[in-house]
Amino acid sequence: MLWKKKADGSSGQPPSKSVDPPAPGPSVSPSGQPGARREDFDRALEALVNVVRAVGQYAIDLPEVSAKDVTRLAEHWAQHLLFQRPRPGDEQARGRDRDYAGALRFAVEQLKNEHGHVTRSISDLRQTVWTFIHSLNRALTDDGADDVKVSAQLARLRTAAECGSTEELRQAALATAGSVEEVVQTRKRRQAQRNGELGRKLKNLGRELEDARRESSLDPLTQLYNRGALDDHLSELVALQTFVDQPTSLLLVDIDHFKAINDTYGHPVGDIVLRKLSDALVRAFPRRSDFVARYGGEEFAVVLPETNAKDAAVLAERLRVGMRKLDFPSTPNLKFTVSIGGAVLRAGENITSWVERADRALYEAKHAGRDRVLVTDV
Ligand code: GH3
Ligand code: MG
Ligand code: MG
Repeated sequence: MLWKKKADGSSGQPPSKSVDPPAPGPSVSPSGQPGARREDFDRALEALVNVVRAVGQYAIDLPEVSAKDVTRLAEHWAQHLLFQRPRPGDEQARGRDRDYAGALRFAVEQLKNEHGHVTRSISDLRQTVWTFIHSLNRALTDDGADDVKVSAQLARLRTAAECGSTEELRQAALATAGSVEEVVQTRKRRQAQRNGELGRKLKNLGRELEDARRESSLDPLTQLYNRGALDDHLSELVALQTFVDQPTSLLLVDIDHFKAINDTYGHPVGDIVLRKLSDALVRAFPRRSDFVARYGGEEFAVVLPETNAKDAAVLAERLRVGMRKLDFPSTPNLKFTVSIGGAVLRAGENITSWVERADRALYEAKHAGRDRVLVTDV
């Protein structure tokens, strides 16, 4: 039941508001079960919270707002609905009424904006293709018209050369030279114009493709790189290894007993833990060359170039200890630990073997009691 998850120690009952269900008592549901209406209401609220969170989880970057901000805002609304925290944009509010319509409006507005953005992007892409077709078409027909003009001049020149007077030949030759010169200049101008036009369109297209590529390499829940992006990154590093004489470390970070967190606090709280840990990872490995990804489920990967096993272990240990400082205001009793396994890429080693060694180290850290770091040198 949702009410049991309240963090403020209050009775755990839903707030009294006209749209909330009446307290269980004399009311009898259509099924004839007393209290069934409250369960219905709980389920409806949970469904609304899930919708709001899904909007945040699958948000896409829009020109006016980033996916990350939408994810944060959606979580804010979810917290408002679940725990009656002040509604987004009204942090000072003292009232504890849930703003269901506001949450729904947020979800609908967000979906509308994303739909508009996607529709506009598709139409831009279509327009770019048409611009390309039109310029190609124009290039062919315009050049064709010029060719007809030059051919006519050449025919006049040929006739003059065969049977015309010297003066006629001179006139025809000058006119042909003038036409050819004009055609060359016009073509040059047209070419420059077309190149500029196409260049601008291709630049926009490139930007959109880059956005789409970035989008497809991110994990929607945590906004970290996903498994696919990690595989690409590792294969690039392995290919480069021959030319680099600096060590590269791989850390695998796995939340301990995460299933129990889901079972005790619910899946949505589990998701919050995953996001908090993701933020902590990004903070803990801030170098531009550090690569943080969600490896899957509750497991994360960190790739550290120019980092040997000893330094990787120190950084991992700092992260492990830092987990104690993470707090969850809505579930104050919630604490968790992580186990970390690591391995340094060996000369000539392939990705599978590198990941397997890090994974084995992680397994050993788990086996030795969890909440510990083990960076292997075998
Ligand atoms: P261990 O200490 O051995 O790692 O135990 P564990 O419970 O962390 O590991 P286990 O593999 O048994 O369970 C992982 C759980 O992670 C099970 C799965 O439901 C949960 N999980 C995976 N992905 C997500 C997610 O995106 N959100 C939430 N909330 N849970 C997830
Ligand atoms: Mg785990
Ligand atoms: Mg795991």
